[in-house]
Amino acid sequence: MDLVDLYQFQQVRNVRRDQNRLGGQIDHQRAVSRDRDADIDERIDRLVMINEALWELLRDTAGMTEDHLLHKLAEIDGRDGDRDGRRRVAPMDCSCGAKVSVKQKVCTFCGEPPAHRTAFDWV
Ligand SMILES: [Zn+2]
Repeated sequence: MDLVDLYQFQQVRNVRRDQNRLGGQIDHQRAVSRDRDADIDERIDRLVMINEALWELLRDTAGMTEDHLLHKLAEIDGRDGDRDGRRRVAPMDCSCGAKVSVKQKVCTFCGEPPAHRTAFDWV
């Protein structure tokens, strides 16, 4: 085995080592993603159950009907101008004139919290 062969052998070994390391990192990221997905599914299930309980309390104690619920859902769905079954919140106007994303708790430019938000806008 000459020096060139030895060099190439070492290079191939380094590439295989790097592939194994990257494969391990990818497996780890997949496991993290699976755990996160399971956590999100669990949280959604709990939220659905809480909403169902709240709805049944309203129905059973305040005389609300399924039609009331569906009408209100359609109204909320249409607030963003698109009846697509999704709730989107448009960026808010800050008193300084900047637009503040719903994900931001304060304006990037002036540091003020945006006005006119509801508790549901933070979800
Ligand atoms: Zn501002």
